[in-house]
Amino acid sequence: MRGKRAVVSALVAAVGCAVTLGVGVVLRRHDAANGEVQMDRRTAAAVEAVRTETQRYVDTLLTTAAAAGAQEVLTSSEYAALTKPLKSMNLAGANVMAFVIAVADDEVAGAQELWRQRGLPDLTLMPFGDSDHAFSIYPTSLDGNVIVPGMDLMGAEAPAAALAESRRSGAVAVSDTYQLLVDRPLPSGQRQNSFILTAPVYQGEERRFLGWIVLGVRGEDFVSGALTRAGQNLLDLTLRADDAGRREVTVAALAAPVTGVRDLSRTETVPVADGRWTLHLTAVSDRLPGATSGLPAAVLGGGLCLTALLTALVWVLVAARERAEEQVRLATGELLAGEEESRRQARLLLAVLDGISDGVGVVGPTGSFLLQNPAARRILGRREKATTPGGWTDHFGLYRLDGITEYPVDEQPLTRALEGTSSDQVEMLVRNRAHPEGRVISVSAQPIETGAGERGAVAVFHDITDRKHVENELRGFAGVVAHDLKAPLSAVRGYAELIVEALGDPDPDAVEDAVRSAGKVMAGVDRMHTLITELLDYTAARDATMRVEDVDLRELVDDVVTTRADAPGMTGCRPDVFVGGLPRVRGDRVLLRQVLDNLLGNAIKYTPPGQEPRIDVTARTDDTGTVRVQVADRGIGIPDGEHAAVFDSFHRASNGTAMPGTGLGLAICRRIVERHGGHIEALPNPGGGTIFVFTVPAAAAEQPLCENVHIF
Ligand code: ADP
Repeated sequence: MRGKRAVVSALVAAVGCAVTLGVGVVLRRHDAANGEVQMDRRTAAAVEAVRTETQRYVDTLLTTAAAAGAQEVLTSSEYAALTKPLKSMNLAGANVMAFVIAVADDEVAGAQELWRQRGLPDLTLMPFGDSDHAFSIYPTSLDGNVIVPGMDLMGAEAPAAALAESRRSGAVAVSDTYQLLVDRPLPSGQRQNSFILTAPVYQGEERRFLGWIVLGVRGEDFVSGALTRAGQNLLDLTLRADDAGRREVTVAALAAPVTGVRDLSRTETVPVADGRWTLHLTAVSDRLPGATSGLPAAVLGGGLCLTALLTALVWVLVAARERAEEQVRLATGELLAGEEESRRQARLLLAVLDGISDGVGVVGPTGSFLLQNPAARRILGRREKATTPGGWTDHFGLYRLDGITEYPVDEQPLTRALEGTSSDQVEMLVRNRAHPEGRVISVSAQPIETGAGERGAVAVFHDITDRKHVENELRGFAGVVAHDLKAPLSAVRGYAELIVEALGDPDPDAVEDAVRSAGKVMAGVDRMHTLITELLDYTAARDATMRVEDVDLRELVDDVVTTRADAPGMTGCRPDVFVGGLPRVRGDRVLLRQVLDNLLGNAIKYTPPGQEPRIDVTARTDDTGTVRVQVADRGIGIPDGEHAAVFDSFHRASNGTAMPGTGLGLAICRRIVERHGGHIEALPNPGGGTIFVFTVPAAAAEQPLCENVHIF
């Protein structure tokens, strides 16, 4: 968390700094470009100032030279008159303006005499060397110093060269720098690098060469005067020129009173008369007006401050966002856990609903089914969901228990529950395509809230068809048992009264009657005993625990036939029983014996008196592993239409009522066979009599069939 916050903040800081620095650099470059432009301008101005100033000197020189040449005879007074204005011209650095004449070495004495006559009586020419000479005749001091005339300018290499060049070219020439001859007497600290400007003086139309006008200029003074304005105290200026040895020397240097690194520099050449000087300029860009705006520093400072603020803001925002995200994460986690728990509960609920045998249905406020578990669909017999309560009766086929009257919609438990009234165990009949014979169901319903204050309803369905069947059966039992027990009991009572009367009568016939009556009493008691035994057997056939094992059918048949034949009440003809090859079957030995006993007993019982009962017991096993056992007799047969009904409890066919019986024997047989997973039916025997057929599972390990035998 903290790491992420740091990374984002660092990123913002880095981007902010980068942008600030970038903008600063761009602005700085812009300023630098401005500085260069300013420097170019000022350099151009300085060069122009030097050029203009030197031109002024040159012009002055030319004017003076022209004026001197115009004189018939250039006397001292005339020269003084034409140079007088120079003093007021404020020529910076100019210290002497002299008329210089060229004199051959052998003419020095004559020249001296001539110029003494022209106004310099004390003139003494001071020749240097023995070649041509250039004597300063009228040296006019421009700075107040006294200058002695007669000095030979050939005494120094630089002025000699300049004079020669001027005379040769006929134009103004500038000398290399040197220390003026007139300054040589000064202390070394006051001597300056200087130069002379010289212009030839011609006279008349034929332009006869008279000499030169020479202007001596002290370098530093010249520069400080001429360049101070150009430098404006912002530029360092250095003016350089060649000395007599062609070495570049500094004529003058002017340092601007500013501190800082001189980051701008220019070097320009300045034409001075026929020469070219070098002007070197340096400046501190920050001090040049218009060169720096101060914007880069402001942007840099402001940008960095802004970046710091932004970084802090981002730090705070990211921290807040992270806190919010953490809270959302926690809330989401809880929500997911809750959702998972809800899903688990829902799955559990659905599993329970799917697993229970009772049907459960939930309807919404409009009566549309929101939920139906598999048991509900099975019990109601319809998978589709009926949408409105009004359609339920038709949709599900709901009837009252009479099976005829449709169940009124407004009395249905779910309808009542939707109206807020609970119902408990309401019985109704469901009959539709899935349950064409109809199923009796018990419905309990109660209102529930299905959400947002809406009322729905839940109903629980229970299929009570079997229970109802048993109840009906019990009701039938009660009636039959009451009826069948009442008759023998009435007989028993009647005969018992007869016995009592007879015992009080000494007549021997009365005793005989009493014995007969006692026999009737015993017969009645036997009938009641039989009825109760068969009732118990009937119940046991449904409820008794089955002990399933492999059973030898042949043994069972032998046992039953033997027992029947040896029974004390067995009178009349002995039965002729043919037993075919019987397989081993799988079932409950006791119950299967009861089936065979009932069937064989009926075959004997329902054979007309005096006729030998003929019974065939056969069996065959089909492909599915089911043994089909057949018991056929040649008895009185069952009337048409009653072959199925004889298996109902207490049903006695119309032809057999003369025989003793309860009507439970075949019902017991059906229960036992069905509990073994088989079925039983009665068929007319072609040629007379009845065939009973029932199926049971074959034994696990089938044995070879036994031989056919005749018993008795
Ligand atoms: P019960 O013999 O006690 O009357 P059962 O359930 O054994 O009761 O038989 C029901 C009825 O079926 C009998 O009353 C009789 O009418 C008829 N019945 C059963 N077995 C035979 C048979 N082998 N031949 C003719 N009728 C039979």
